[in-house]
Amino acid sequence: MAVIELRPCTFCGGEAEMEMDEAGLHLVRCQECAMATPPEYRPDQAVADWNAMWDGALKPCPFCGEDAIAAYDSRGLPCVMCRRCACRTAPCIGEPSPEANLKAARAAWNRRACDA
Ligand SMILES: [Zn+2]
Ligand SMILES: [Zn+2]
Repeated sequence: MAVIELRPCTFCGGEAEMEMDEAGLHLVRCQECAMATPPEYRPDQAVADWNAMWDGALKPCPFCGEDAIAAYDSRGLPCVMCRRCACRTAPCIGEPSPEANLKAARAAWNRRACDA
């Protein structure tokens, strides 16, 4: 089996590992915090989801100036949130793939940061 390079968690810097859920779907989960990708049929898609959290620059929080992170919320929906305050985008679910949704969440965050 090929060794998959996983970047550290965007939220806490913890080590990430591939996991399989009860349904046999693949996901990448941080071993330190609860951060995880949505379950995917293909392991490479889960890796892509995970690594997508790192793509592109996010503007700082419009309210407190802290760094923002792209993440999946407790329901597995992509959103962008501030590391310090509770500020976050609405979950993006309108796109055909989790990656595209995360991209939409980033765009929404950056638009909001612009408005502030
Ligand atoms: Zn983590
Ligand atoms: Zn903030």
